[in-house]
Amino acid sequence: MSNKTEQNDLMEKIVSLCKRRGFVFPSSEIYGGLANTWDFGPMGVLLKNNFKELWWKIFVQEREDMVGLESSIIMNPRVWEASGHVSEFADMLIDCKKCKNRFRADHLVEDATGIDIEGKSPEEAAKVIEKNKVKCPACGKIDWTKARNFNLLFKTYIGAIEDEKAIAYLRGETAQGMFVDFKEILNSSRQKIPFGIAQVGKSFRNEVTPGNFIFRTREFEIAELEYFMSPKADWRKIFDSWLKVMQRLANEIGLNEKDIHFHDIPKEKRAHYSKKTVDVEYNYPFGQSELWGLAYRTDYDLKKHQEYSGKDLSYTDPKTNEKYIPHVVEPSMGVERSLLAILCAAYTEEKIEKETRIVMKFPKNLAPIKIAVFPLLKNKPELVEKAHDIFDSLKLSYVCEFDDNGNIGKRYRRQDEIGTPYCVTVDFDSVKDDAVTVRNRDTMEQKRVKIAGLEAFFSKNFGK
Ligand code: ATP
Repeated sequence: MSNKTEQNDLMEKIVSLCKRRGFVFPSSEIYGGLANTWDFGPMGVLLKNNFKELWWKIFVQEREDMVGLESSIIMNPRVWEASGHVSEFADMLIDCKKCKNRFRADHLVEDATGIDIEGKSPEEAAKVIEKNKVKCPACGKIDWTKARNFNLLFKTYIGAIEDEKAIAYLRGETAQGMFVDFKEILNSSRQKIPFGIAQVGKSFRNEVTPGNFIFRTREFEIAELEYFMSPKADWRKIFDSWLKVMQRLANEIGLNEKDIHFHDIPKEKRAHYSKKTVDVEYNYPFGQSELWGLAYRTDYDLKKHQEYSGKDLSYTDPKTNEKYIPHVVEPSMGVERSLLAILCAAYTEEKIEKETRIVMKFPKNLAPIKIAVFPLLKNKPELVEKAHDIFDSLKLSYVCEFDDNGNIGKRYRRQDEIGTPYCVTVDFDSVKDDAVTVRNRDTMEQKRVKIAGLEAFFSKNFGK
């Protein structure tokens, strides 16, 4: 992308396509929506599931040293006290007294001055704002409230009485489930250290400034894993090997290598539990931003949970009898941020004569619909029947869509915009020669294929 306007345009085009074709739209819109909350429509849910399935295949299924978990969203509130989230999981915010707009103090200062204040106290932040005469980006005035820390955990109450004792939290990350269930999984599975526990699920953060479509929301899914290892293990080697797996995922979801950056996070900007963090950043249309993270969490979490729960969370090596609290490396990947990167990478405009063709060039395994089946005309029963027979047989192996609406050009355009790799059209010749036209999404090449040979054709082209 060459300039900012083009980048904004691209973002608008993607948001509009997502709504038009049922990938993502604003939530509860009949009530005016709720800012920064989004629903995944028929195409979005398929794309999301395909991403999660691929993630699970790469990070769990293909390995001998990984097991899965689905832990609760609402856990004992002590979990979040032990993990440090109740005291540490905060962003600093500040309000403009004149126009009442609210900002994340670190973003405000960085945008205005280029100074990075992450990790600084509210008092230190206030000094930087005063010294640099930072203006309100909304109204241009300098009249700030005090900067203050704001905890990101969503609170709720369990049961009928809303008092202090009933407070619980919606999980801010899935990771804590893996830590608190560590012993349970060790005792019930055949795993020995080193091994990992993976989970994909909803997380909630009361973000101060959500935005950029599905990039930063208050409710989102994380796909992450905790890889448990001996304190004597070569953690750098394990860290690097997970980074490679993340690179492989980036490649398989169609992200261009030149759009991916690895950012080694300096100590003062790392989360409270991390000894090393590498952020995988992506060139989104609104700028280079964090896509995924990889952190070395040491034995911080298990130690804390051992301390707070009073339960022994150590591991005894069956060979050496050595007893220790395992250390942990954690690859952590936001599902919606991944989808946004996938959507940006797939979005393609092609000039064809006087028209512009919009096509989502998803990798085939991510495409929501794999094959669309059309009768050329919907008022010709012999074509409709044949097309239905083909749909009924292909749908057993592939997610297919049957469409007999509108002219064929419009139907192709819709399938291009939802990224369907192949369209099968039953035409008048099909009745005579038992063959159909198969159109390729990317090349638009049309090929005649015998109906009896369709299964073999697709199994070859989908690599089944
Ligand atoms: P950021 O600095 O952008 O707030 P983070 O470093 O706090 O993110 P982590 O705690 O490492 O994020 O969360 C793991 C992953 O979850 C991130 O790499 C990102 O993909 C995703 N993620 C985090 N916060 C959000 C959010 N508010 N909305 C959507 N995805 C998110």
